[in-house]
Amino acid sequence: MNVPLTINSIMDFAERVHGDTEIVSVTIDNPKHRYTFRDAFARTRQLANALAAAGVQGGDRVATLAWNDYRHFELYYAISCSGAVCHTINPRLFPEQVDYIANHAEDKLIFTDPAFLPLLEGLEDKLTTVEKYIVLTDATNMPATSLSNAIDYETFIMDQPDTFTWPEFDENTASALCYTSGTTGNPKGVLYSHRSTLLHAYGAALPDTMNMSMHDVILPIVPMFHVNAWNIIYGAAMIGCKLVFPGPKMGDGAALQALIEDEQVTMSAGVPTVWLALLAYLRDTGKSIDSLNRVVVGGAACPQSIIDEFEEKHNVYAHQGWGMTETGPLGTYNSLKPGMENLPLEGRRAIQVKQGRPVFGVDIRIVNDDGEVQPWDGESTGEIRIRGNWVCSGYYKLEGADSHDADGYFGTGDVACLDSDAYLKITDRTKDVIKSGGEWISSIELENVAVGHPDIAEAAVIGVAHPTWTERPLLIVIAEEGKIPDKSDVLSFLEGKVAKWWIPEDVVFVDEIPHTATGKISKKDLRVTFSDYTFPE
Ligand code: ADP
Repeated sequence: MNVPLTINSIMDFAERVHGDTEIVSVTIDNPKHRYTFRDAFARTRQLANALAAAGVQGGDRVATLAWNDYRHFELYYAISCSGAVCHTINPRLFPEQVDYIANHAEDKLIFTDPAFLPLLEGLEDKLTTVEKYIVLTDATNMPATSLSNAIDYETFIMDQPDTFTWPEFDENTASALCYTSGTTGNPKGVLYSHRSTLLHAYGAALPDTMNMSMHDVILPIVPMFHVNAWNIIYGAAMIGCKLVFPGPKMGDGAALQALIEDEQVTMSAGVPTVWLALLAYLRDTGKSIDSLNRVVVGGAACPQSIIDEFEEKHNVYAHQGWGMTETGPLGTYNSLKPGMENLPLEGRRAIQVKQGRPVFGVDIRIVNDDGEVQPWDGESTGEIRIRGNWVCSGYYKLEGADSHDADGYFGTGDVACLDSDAYLKITDRTKDVIKSGGEWISSIELENVAVGHPDIAEAAVIGVAHPTWTERPLLIVIAEEGKIPDKSDVLSFLEGKVAKWWIPEDVVFVDEIPHTATGKISKKDLRVTFSDYTFPE
């Protein structure tokens, strides 16, 4: 039968089959909200009625500026299953970018956490397409606001019936929209379809990918405003596992540890920064996370020190994944092939720090500067090109801005190699590569090794002009609190861990390293800061 692959089918199934599965959330107005999938979808229908009453029609964009919690979950399903587009906005973007994005998407409504009211109040005059602001709280906790047409969420849905006839539509209908913050120019929108989302949910749940089961309790720390929290929200409903949402607490080690222990979380997903915060808290307090058995680390390269500490101190396996907003996000996922678990530790770690193996549903190739497809030999590097069921075919309302090649593969701008076991290893972004005396130096690898130094909290490497070598690496570091590592000690720590000619020309200590809105080190800003820098004689 040709049954359309829609998010509606995930929702219907979850309510019927996994109705009593729990969703637990931390929200601004409730330290621990809990209910079931059945409750969630009844409220989702109330919300769908409220959206229809507010004039939302198929194809309209409805925006969210929200943390991970149960109301955001209801929005995901109500908006997309109504045939409208759930546009998740990253609240960490600069106000001008939020303004640009909301106008570009022509958002009709914005659902916002109370915390982001000041941001929206400052932009209201510019947000000309927005008809109403719905604040994600109840009447009692509704803050005063200067927004002219604002209402609290609970009042917005309160009088609506919990029955709703969902529309039927083609599986290629757009379901969600996410803008990439990008390193240059304005953010670009990536539209996901019902079909791409459902197929991604299948792919991500497979045993050698996230291995999601109804026996799991999953804590998605990766924000729901960032590539749909890597789509875990849909997979969880498909599989029927309990979900735990951290709300505004995603960078808070103490809150995360408590959630993991209290709710018996078995799996969690987030960017390296989050894990650094959690591990530091565990180190400082001696507390444990015994229920947790694995984490997914993605969005940026995972330093080996994170993998080591999770496994050796907490018996947690850290799986690295690679992807991007344009690729759904899942491109590769790191699980060991049979037999590899018996390798000596060093050999196993050398595999675990790679970005992982392609997931069925995507097709990956490495293409060098001359456009030649490279062999999978673990050495030949080039740009990652990717095509597949959940890879974008272009950008929203930006004809010609995409980087698809003549074979239809999307050019990612990431530089990597693939080995004979199909493990991908990212060495750089095309714009960040350092070319020294005609040879490539991987800034990512240098950073990963540098943060293994016990006195270094964060490290970034950029290429700086050099009279003899064209470019040489400059290591920029933030020391651990209370530690004052010296330059020669840092450099000798790197010796033997990277090629001799990769050793940075200089080390600079700073108090802060700039990050992009998605938490990645902003090399663009660092290059501006250090534009006048010259290496010591
Ligand atoms: P997301 O961070 O959700 O994966 P973005 O579109 O914001 O999506 O960023 C994608 C970029 O992040 C990739 O092109 C790559 O440069 C970087 N990235 C993501 N995962 C990894 C990883 N495991 N290792 C190295 N870089 C990564």
